Amino acid sequence: MPVACHAPLTLGCSHPGQFNVHPVPCVWGAADPKDRGPVIASTTDFMNKNAIGTHNGAYSTYRAVALACGRYPAGFKPDLTNTQPVVHFPPRAGWTGASRIVSIDPWGHLAHMVFKDQLVKHDIRPTISITKAHISLKEIEEATLKGRLVVDGEVMRNASTANCTKIAFEHVWHLPGIAQRFGVEVGHLRRCLFEETGGMFPELITRTDLDIFLPPIGGVTVYIFGDPAKLGNKAFPCACRVHDECNGSDVFGSDICTCRPYLTHGIEVCIETAQKGGVGVIAYYRKEGRALGEVTKFLVYNARKRQEGGDRAETYFLRTECVAGVQDMRFQELMPDILVWLGIERIDKLVSMSDMKHDAITGAGIEVVERIQIPDDMIPSDAHVEIDAKKAAGYFSTGPAMTEEELKQAKGRGFEKY
Ligand SMILES: [Zn+2]
Repeated sequence: MPVACHAPLTLGCSHPGQFNVHPVPCVWGAADPKDRGPVIASTTDFMNKNAIGTHNGAYSTYRAVALACGRYPAGFKPDLTNTQPVVHFPPRAGWTGASRIVSIDPWGHLAHMVFKDQLVKHDIRPTISITKAHISLKEIEEATLKGRLVVDGEVMRNASTANCTKIAFEHVWHLPGIAQRFGVEVGHLRRCLFEETGGMFPELITRTDLDIFLPPIGGVTVYIFGDPAKLGNKAFPCACRVHDECNGSDVFGSDICTCRPYLTHGIEVCIETAQKGGVGVIAYYRKEGRALGEVTKFLVYNARKRQEGGDRAETYFLRTECVAGVQDMRFQELMPDILVWLGIERIDKLVSMSDMKHDAITGAGIEVVERIQIPDDMIPSDAHVEIDAKKAAGYFSTGPAMTEEELKQAKGRGFEKY
């Protein structure tokens, strides 16, 4: 249901002095940044800000505590000298138009440059940053030792270390575009966002003149192997894995799922593609536990392993839904925005079995040539419940379909064996 449109003056109740507010115009999707205008999500520039919420996602809460403790200067404006991107990312066709990119600011990495003239007057901050890195992984070293990767001094520095460009993204939601992407009414979306965050952002209701929202959620990191200038040029092959965070596996090597093996396999395919003259992209989304959070995730693990009949593929999705209310909240519909921003038009090797990811990517107009599943010998023993359940649910696989009887068999470890 649409919400009533209140005049901005109603904010005078919570922020005295906020009469005659004049948000700086921001025309979402305009091709020229001068026409588009900056995103201003300032906590101090109440009169001119044009976005709800604030920078740094969930970390803004720590900033609030730092301010409360007197460790963060009130009214602080960052000194952004020398923070500009180390790699030039010129505008791409997908940056233009109100509906192709709706969850990040395409000009976010250049905000303090293209809107330089307005920096003196307004608190404008980058929402994308671009740097370079060396990454070193034991799985890369294994691939080198087994002869699958070679040290070329360019993409691979040594047996375990690769060169890459990395890009961090903060979410900037254009609410009408987000609503359109999900096929819901924008007023209804704003009310749900307001209510489900415990009323954290009253302006979702009171400032319907503001269409932009910086949600307090985790961002995205992109790792590019090979020359980023090749992205979007169909003369060069492109490999890609879109990976949703799984801290337990990605960082700590937990064996209940295939996340880290699939991630490192994706990195290997990306390096291999870059070494063959192409470019590889790992897009890492902070959507822990299918965006249900780690507390929910561990509750589900317990419920799976304690259920009558043991941990098995047949009930894998059901146990999640019982605890979380849904099976998945990652909303892959927003995921391709990052790929569109990068200028990717064709993925030659998509390292993913997920139909939801595949369909979202092709739905965004990006061609997928080949889908690559995780090699069987990389699946940890306790992760067969997950992988079998996913295959049975229709995830991409080149192997034989699971029978109903096979799905009923308990395959996960019980707690007694821990
Ligand atoms: Zn996992």
